[in-house]
Amino acid sequence: MNTVVEMRADTRQIRCFDPATRELLGAVAIDPPERVHEVIARAKAAQIGWRETDFARRRAVLRRIADHLVDHMDELVDVVVRDAGKTRENALMGEIWPVLEKLRWTVANGEKHLRPERVSSGLLMHKRARLEYHPLGVVGAIIPWNYPLQNIMNPLVPALMAGNAVVVKPSEWVAWSSGRIVEIARAALMAEGQSPDLVGLVQGYGETGQALIAGGIDSLVFIGSVHNGQRVLEAAAKALIPVVLELGGKDPFIVCDDADLEQAAHAAMAGCFINAGQNCVASERLLVQDAVYDRFADRVGELARALRQGDPKRSAVDVGAMVTPLQIEIVERLVQKAIAQGARVLAGGRRVLTGEGDFFAPTVLANVTPDMEIMREEVFGPVMLLCRVRDDHEAVAVANGTGFGLSSSVFSRDHARARCIADRLQAGMTAINDFGGMTYMAQDLTFGGVKQSGFGRMNGRDGLRSFCNVKAVLDDRLPLHFANKLFPITEQTFDGIGATLRLVYGRGPGRKLAGVVGWARSIGERLSRRS
Ligand code: NAD
Repeated sequence: MNTVVEMRADTRQIRCFDPATRELLGAVAIDPPERVHEVIARAKAAQIGWRETDFARRRAVLRRIADHLVDHMDELVDVVVRDAGKTRENALMGEIWPVLEKLRWTVANGEKHLRPERVSSGLLMHKRARLEYHPLGVVGAIIPWNYPLQNIMNPLVPALMAGNAVVVKPSEWVAWSSGRIVEIARAALMAEGQSPDLVGLVQGYGETGQALIAGGIDSLVFIGSVHNGQRVLEAAAKALIPVVLELGGKDPFIVCDDADLEQAAHAAMAGCFINAGQNCVASERLLVQDAVYDRFADRVGELARALRQGDPKRSAVDVGAMVTPLQIEIVERLVQKAIAQGARVLAGGRRVLTGEGDFFAPTVLANVTPDMEIMREEVFGPVMLLCRVRDDHEAVAVANGTGFGLSSSVFSRDHARARCIADRLQAGMTAINDFGGMTYMAQDLTFGGVKQSGFGRMNGRDGLRSFCNVKAVLDDRLPLHFANKLFPITEQTFDGIGATLRLVYGRGPGRKLAGVVGWARSIGERLSRRS
């Protein structure tokens, strides 16, 4: 059975399958553009009241969402395991845990980062200056399939905390679980006496995403592939809305010759095989220094061959299925081409359990070189690539040699050396002696990429403020009201301004003195005119 053909057979609904068994889970109606516009309009109306709420009310809603996750943990694990074919462990550690941590962080820190902030008024000593963090309105969120729960909550939580409404367009590949997940937030809002319309859901393919962008939203978060990111950006340019783009990655993972190899090997296993490698921050390129390359390759090969794979609902497994059959095709093509070009298979290398579901074996390829396509294109599957590098210099050059720049990792026992390498990596995030994805768990840190990995930030203070209109306000310092007359402009106006600029910005006593003299002359002329 071809699930892609089956899924798209009907233009009015999405047929949803369990990737680990190919069992039909159900069908979800596709929202036509009129309904997308209706959901946005309802969100807009609801946001008018929500933007006036105090932080305590917003925190109450987030706490209810967290309570629901804790109280219904097992059921939610089942839902995402069935929809995404992932392991039960990943559903807990990769979905529920990071979302609970995001909620905890936002409840604890959100108000602190969203309160008005006093800043210097510079030369305007009679004025006060502050930055205020106002909501943007309705935030659209177009998101991928790799983490059905986390991808929804990732923009939803900060958007609500900042006083926005949000309309989510989940991936067609996890449409089945998305309704259940969005309902958690809507129920939390209702329980706190707020409108559930603050969180809207629209389902469908790329066309639904386009209808959302053109439908009157005030800002957009897009999480997905580079290719679609470009199409989304074109549409957002027409609608003239700001966009946070979180795109793909090809993260380097540098193992120095003085690294603790056991530590690095286990981190590499997590970096490559968590969620069957379907991670934007997967450790896609292992750059291992010559002196330790063979020992490291032996060890990760041994660890990867011991991984258990299969339907996570039947028994405990280490690696689950891949969410989409299209992604398996990409993984298979890149792996086969690399093998044909000389890569050596230390583990896996092919599809497995083909009679059951969409599985690709945990794969380790050695003798991979930077010129191979597999070292430049995102694999987004359970594949570890081992590339030999001579020294720190070459490791950095190869690491920076792709179009991507999301996360990165450096392993060395020498912290000064590790920090020096980290400083030179072109990436949005770097983890030292850990795999790059771990940065997500420190919610005070920002998350986002450079180069083709996107722009704008999620997480942390700056991520929260991505959901705000950062408004500059100039206010009175004292209740004194005087007319600051500029017109009519005279020669003295010009002389006075010139003297002021020399006095304030002139460096050294000579320039300052010229300013003072200019001032004195300007005042003198003004007085003589009056008399
Ligand atoms: P994708 O680009 O195929 O789809 C993402 C979303 O965009 C889906 O909801 C899809 O329906 C929608 N979409 C597709 N075409 C569209 C169009 N023309 N206009 C508007 N919307 C459109 O990505 P995917 O295959 O679902 O996810 C995998 C990709 O996501 C990988 O590249 C991965 O690295 C990336 N990703 C990035 C992050 C991050 O934070 N940087 C996180 C997770 C995944």
